[in-house]
Amino acid sequence: MNTQIFLVCEPAAAQKQLEEAGKIIRAGGLVVFPTETVYGLGGDGTNRDAAAKIYAAKGRPSDNPLIIHIADPEDASRYAYTTPLYFALAKAFMPGPLTVIMPKRDNVPDSVTGGLDSVAVRCPSHPVANALIRASGTCIAAPSANLSGKPSPTEASHVVQDLMGKVDAIIDGGACEIGLESTIVKIQADEQGQPYLLLLRPGAVTHDALCCVCPRVDIAPAVAEKLAENERPLSPGMKYRHYAPSAPLILLDGDDADVLAFLQREQRTTRCTVLCYDEEVDHLAQGKIIPVGSKSDLARQANRLFAALREADATDAQIIYAHLPPMQGLGLALYNRMIRAAAHTVLKI
Ligand code: AMP
Ligand code: MG
Repeated sequence: MNTQIFLVCEPAAAQKQLEEAGKIIRAGGLVVFPTETVYGLGGDGTNRDAAAKIYAAKGRPSDNPLIIHIADPEDASRYAYTTPLYFALAKAFMPGPLTVIMPKRDNVPDSVTGGLDSVAVRCPSHPVANALIRASGTCIAAPSANLSGKPSPTEASHVVQDLMGKVDAIIDGGACEIGLESTIVKIQADEQGQPYLLLLRPGAVTHDALCCVCPRVDIAPAVAEKLAENERPLSPGMKYRHYAPSAPLILLDGDDADVLAFLQREQRTTRCTVLCYDEEVDHLAQGKIIPVGSKSDLARQANRLFAALREADATDAQIIYAHLPPMQGLGLALYNRMIRAAAHTVLKI
């Protein structure tokens, strides 16, 4: 397949290209587009064949449901049974990096939801994503635009590596601002019928922020822990190995000085690459490090993570080392991605 590349930084200056991309979506084709989280691999969310094409292009198992993207928070009611809690979340966080799972309406095909009777809905804040959804005249079903199992793409060049020749078009809108996928919550009801939230995937909308809108926000155990053998995940995506570079990633847990001494020793004796803090750059062997930001700057580390994993993969490293992030605030989102990328391998120093 011939993949067209559209360079779109400012939607207003690229109306014709966005119209063209919207037409591709309407006709059942696939368009990769930038969002504030990561790049998405989009197709018409009401077209069962488009969903099948998305799974094929990504090599994604078709029981792992897709998120549908809308241009206005109110549009969720066209595809899902919305509730007052949804609108409270929308008021606080949309457009933005929050996905909400609700019971689905019939116009969303089973192929989009992996056969589930619920649907995941998100309203991205990226102006190019918003303009594309409007131009397409439908909702856009989109997983992250990486090959299944690989780190999510945060720059168009990552998408080109993974999906060139497999999609109709790629919209290059530059680097993604957040760099980790959206927070996912499911609206549930307790025994008294009171609504509460179940956090299925942490992201830039943190647990603390959600608690300001909804007094009860449970964290699904699989967010931070390993699923037991044969355990049925609450979200199908939880069971798949994710975000993984080709060389094994090992996370280091210990005092800064001890971890640094360990890394210095390892650099002398093994072929390793280190995802290090900026503060460590001068203390480690150059050429074998990938700085990911200052230790205290979790937003920068989140923004760098997936690109850094791809960069680490491009080295001849046999092992990749990184620091185990804290589990608070945005740290929980980093922890969730890194623990999966590392297949839960943590070394206590
Ligand atoms: P991605 O599209 O790569 O950002 O991944 C989307 C994530 O949302 C996957 O982990 C899915 O399992 C999860 N997801 C999407 N729809 C649902 C749903 N209806 N119920 C539970 N999880 C969902
Ligand atoms: Mg993904």
